[in-house]
Amino acid sequence: MNARTPTETRSPRMEPLARLPVFLSLQGRRAVVAGGTPGAAWKAELLSAAGAAVDVYAREPSDELLAVAGDAPGGTITVHRRDWQAADLDGAAIAIAACENDSQAEHFATTARACGVPVNVIDKPKFCDFAFGAIVNRSPLVIGISTDGAAPVFGQAIRAKLEAMIPRGFARWADAARRWRHAVQTSGLSFNGRRRFWQLFTAMAARNPDYEPEQVDYIRLLTETEAEGSIVEKGSVVLVGAGPGDPELMTLRAVRALQSADIILYDDLVSVEVLDFARREAKKMLVGKTGYGPSCKQGEINALMVSLAKAGKRVVRLKGGDPMIFGRAGEEIAACRDAGIAVEVVPGITAAQGAASRLGISLTHRSEARRLQYVTGHAADGRLPRDVDWRSLADPSATTAVYMPVKTLAELSATAIAEGLDPATPAVAVLRATRADQVTIAASIAELPARLSSADVSGPVIVFIGRVFGEIASRDVMQTAPARTHSPGVRP
Ligand code: SAH
Repeated sequence: MNARTPTETRSPRMEPLARLPVFLSLQGRRAVVAGGTPGAAWKAELLSAAGAAVDVYAREPSDELLAVAGDAPGGTITVHRRDWQAADLDGAAIAIAACENDSQAEHFATTARACGVPVNVIDKPKFCDFAFGAIVNRSPLVIGISTDGAAPVFGQAIRAKLEAMIPRGFARWADAARRWRHAVQTSGLSFNGRRRFWQLFTAMAARNPDYEPEQVDYIRLLTETEAEGSIVEKGSVVLVGAGPGDPELMTLRAVRALQSADIILYDDLVSVEVLDFARREAKKMLVGKTGYGPSCKQGEINALMVSLAKAGKRVVRLKGGDPMIFGRAGEEIAACRDAGIAVEVVPGITAAQGAASRLGISLTHRSEARRLQYVTGHAADGRLPRDVDWRSLADPSATTAVYMPVKTLAELSATAIAEGLDPATPAVAVLRATRADQVTIAASIAELPARLSSADVSGPVIVFIGRVFGEIASRDVMQTAPARTHSPGVRP
């Protein structure tokens, strides 16, 4: 009797879950809040925002409570100036209390449970049936975050990250999805067609997060979905500034672009930590350009970028620092425009700004530095550019940032000094600025070339010249960035 019957293979079991996230509908339902503290006022506001009719029982309501009751965001908030009673809990959908001590909390929780009402006592987890967690509100898109009470601060930090990553405008897109859902369902599109519609919808939302979708967009998306098969989705190019290395220095828009890219063409100035922000499925291609090492020709990069976009891909051209500073963005933008490809630019923090921030030196100064100039040490032929305005380099009230300085610094320094630059002018070379292995070398401009040539200059180097660096030059030591496992500014 050991016959085997065929059975369906199960998908793997769910991993243990400390809390079950559920999204409770409170529209038009009654909610009870016991207590009048500011904490209770905030809970009343939250419940009202979720559409509940909130009854608050408080002998002495706080100013916060009275204010929110007078200006409820959603459902009504009624303040009853007395203590709560068991009968108040009858028929409530949810009950919350602010209690001074455990015996009050226990009394409230037991009474609520006896009435079948889920209960939360503020800051007293052992009397709670549920917790609120942290919320990211893009209603109707709502994200709840719980650490099961283990680390609320950690939860808040994750909330802050999500807040930054999910555009506010997604609320409008989620709302449009709700409005259009029925129409899409009954549009006659096949299952796959409807799926494609929502993919196109999502891509459009990611590209235009701040735009308010309208009925014409619905029609456009529908037409596009129907026409697919014959027409490939239109591609685009975004030139994105990756900043000098530390990924925390990227803009939010850069992160978003990385997350909606199909293909990322990046320079080797771009750090791996930055690439980690890309969508996992995105194809990543190194297109070189180190200045001196092997690199792709600019024309090849342009052609690749254009052909990928023409094939319908969302191409991100990811560049170190800011794309518009010594980044040949002009040529790439022109190539896209000539090919009729939509092109957008996302600025980044340029090497000079990143390095200055880590040195803690202001590049301008009311009495010492009235002008800031960026020059390149590297002309198209790899030599020192001949058309540098040496007088402006010699100007004692200028701060100069020299990009691509390594090969030509000795010549640049000698020529500038011959043209009147004070040889004692403070200068500083910053190697691998903002990265974990940043190094600075300070000396006078006359001495810096020799100092730099004896250093390990793997990775990018920027050189500053100007009086504002006097303070570092006087330290006159080679400094290695302090080892750190996380970026400054993100301290608990
Ligand atoms: N678009 C870039 C510059 C590209 S040119 C920007 O805005 O920063 C390349 C040069 O930039 C390098 O040779 C070096 O001089 C400078 N550079 C870029 N990143 C750097 C970094 N992290 N540290 C020091 N210099 C950097």
